[in-house]
This record gives sequence, C-alpha cells and structure tokens, in this order.
Amino acid sequence: MMSLVVARELSKTYKMGDVEVDAVKNANFEIGEGAFVAFVGPSGSGKTTVLNLIGCLDKPTGGGLEVTGFDVTRLDRFQAARFRGTNIGFVFQNFNLIPVLTVAENIEYPLLMVQNRPAKERVTRVNALLEAVGMEDQKAKLPDQLSGGQKQRVAVARALVTNPKLVLADEPTANLDHKTAHSILGLMKKMRREMNTTFIFSTHDPRIMAEAEVLFTLEDGRLITHATEEGGTND
Ligand code: ADP
Ligand code: MG
Repeated sequence: MMSLVVARELSKTYKMGDVEVDAVKNANFEIGEGAFVAFVGPSGSGKTTVLNLIGCLDKPTGGGLEVTGFDVTRLDRFQAARFRGTNIGFVFQNFNLIPVLTVAENIEYPLLMVQNRPAKERVTRVNALLEAVGMEDQKAKLPDQLSGGQKQRVAVARALVTNPKLVLADEPTANLDHKTAHSILGLMKKMRREMNTTFIFSTHDPRIMAEAEVLFTLEDGRLITHATEEGGTND
C-alpha cells in the first residue's frame, strides 16, 4: 500500500516572546492510502498541530513531511492553498459552515472558490454528495435551521465534494452527543469505503477511538504509542 503521509522527526515549536512551546516533537509516522486513523491524547497534547501540519495550514519547524508523495515543507502560502484545494478536505469541531449560505451552497463552496468547476458539473456533484450524506430534503435550509449532527453531515459533504485524497477531521464529534457522534463516524467510514478517501481524525473521546483502525497517541507533543491492526498503515 502506498503511504499517503510520511512524517520523519516532524517537529513544531511555537515561539511566544521568550517562551518556546514544543507542540510536536520528533514524530515519526506513516499513513497508508485509504486508511482510517486517529490521533488521540489529552487537550494540549499536539493533535491539532499535527493535523494542521498534514493539512498544510501550518509549517513544521523541523523534520520532513510528505503528503501524497509531495514534500510539503517547501510550499509557500499560495502553493499550500492550491495543494489543499485539490488534495485535502477539512471537517472541524465547530462545523464552520457559512451561515448565509444554504446547505447546498455550503457544499458547493469549495468547487466554486477553490476549483472553479463548470456549473453543470457542480450541480451534479453537489446532488451526489447531498444524497450520500442523507441531506437531500434539507438542501435549501440555512445552517441555523439544522441540528449539530445535520451540520456535521453537511461539513462531511463539503469536505468530500472535491473528491480529495485526504480528509482531516479535528475532533469532529466533540460537540455531538454520543449517538450522533457514532452516526457521523459511520458516515465517514461509508464515504471512505465508497470513495477510497483517507481519513485522519483527532479525538479525545475514548468511545470514538474504538472506531479507528490505527491510533497514534500523543503526549506533550510526543508520539508515545502506535497500535496497528491487521491491514494497518505501516509496511
Ligand atoms: P490539542 O489539539 O491536542 O489540544 P494543540 O496542538 O492545540 O493540542 O496544542 C499543542 C501545544 O501547542 C499546546 O501547549 C498549545 O498551547 C500550543 N500551541 C498550539 N497552537 C499554538 C500557537 N499558535 N501559538 C503558541 N502555542 C500554541
Ligand atoms: Mg485540538
């Protein structure tokens, strides 16, 4: 299996005045194509930082990082934005839907703003995603009119509409009740099966961890354990 993400001694140090925070320290990991894996650990352990590095939203201060076989440590801001737009979808803890856009328009947004696809193709694609996440009959609603679980369904559709190789989901279930959290995880798994999209998420909910194939445990920025199952990501 091809490795989609390869991190070697990956490090990120934040400087705030005289204070340095090692948010990620010398992390080594590989994530295979089509994997469904989670970074876990307590608040402040470095989960968001790792996801932001993989998502090219932030730059490492040390080590190497390849995403889709590409050395992303060399990208400037504009190249990083283009790389994200074509290769990566994002799902956030707070959904981050645009409040003045309808469900359908929120899903369409990445096609319009980042990829600039033709209108006919956009409509087909948005309808396919609306159906996949079970939100066809809600497509004219505004985010305010939706429950938390419905908002996250829209966010999953938006993340997948460009058919990215990789979806990064930072604590996607943290603001959802347990049952809804499970249904969102189930939805992500279904999309992964159907589209062979790689999913990398973070969580500190132990009940959600059981859903991942591989767990990367962080503690104070260090990767401390790496549980691999049959068919996992390494080798
Ligand atoms: P988690 O997502 O696991 O809660 P984070 O990756 O957000 O952890 O944070 C890891 C560490 O890095 C924490 O100590 C946090 O305070 C620090 N940190 C994160 N982002 C910044 C930043 N932009 N500036 C300074 N420190 C940061
Ligand atoms: Mg976080």
